[in-house]
Amino acid sequence: MRKPFICGNWKMNKNVEEAESMITSLKDKVEGVDNVEMGICPTALCLTTVKDAAAGSDIVTGAENIYWKDSGAYTGEISAKMLADSEIEYTIVGHSERREIFGESDYEVNKKVISALSHGVKPIVCVGETLEERKADQIEAKVNFQVDSALAGVSEKEVEDIVIAYEPIWAIGTGETASAEEANRVIGIIRDNIRKEYPNAADKIRIQYGGSVKPHNVEEIMAQEEIDGALVGGASLEADSFSEIILKTA
Ligand code: 13P
Repeated sequence: MRKPFICGNWKMNKNVEEAESMITSLKDKVEGVDNVEMGICPTALCLTTVKDAAAGSDIVTGAENIYWKDSGAYTGEISAKMLADSEIEYTIVGHSERREIFGESDYEVNKKVISALSHGVKPIVCVGETLEERKADQIEAKVNFQVDSALAGVSEKEVEDIVIAYEPIWAIGTGETASAEEANRVIGIIRDNIRKEYPNAADKIRIQYGGSVKPHNVEEIMAQEEIDGALVGGASLEADSFSEIILKTA
């Protein structure tokens, strides 16, 4: 039985004060929820703020990105080792905004996954197709290639710690969602592909859906058999909407 994981991705939003006040409010609203894992990925600046504000609750903290080296002359970057030293549990890797705006490649995503795992930080690996790829019937080829690349060299034991987020790019921040059935279908394809290389881990690995998840559609999404949670952008910025998403999943 896979425990659902609802995780917020704040992207480049919220200063330290706003982060602290949102978490303080969220904590109250989701108190007692124990059948859903809950997480927030803030900017690097707010990681310890969120971690400290969430203390005493079951809300976990994740970074939005890492670099794969442990330390050194890499201006502007933070490492998985630094996250581990601050007891940050997760990091998003390969979000489509990083791939599209910052030119991150599948090779880099793989290096980041391996680095995160080596420090005990769980990667949330984002994959998904563009609208053009969808129209050209390339969904399966695209997501399977991204997953295979990201997991290259990862052992079956380690794979269980990875979360995959299926985020069709055309559904991010647009108000458009893949239908729940369609998201379930693609996530099933991803799981079947993982099963080829990792037969024992495939049913344990959690695969989230992301892309315009809101309080009004989360129940339908979470009712799908293959979908193990959500990576939530816009609706994770307010305690009211994010807690509603969590409570409807619980
Ligand atoms: P929205 O929920 O704002 O569409 O963002 C999804 C996303 O990119 C989460 O990583």
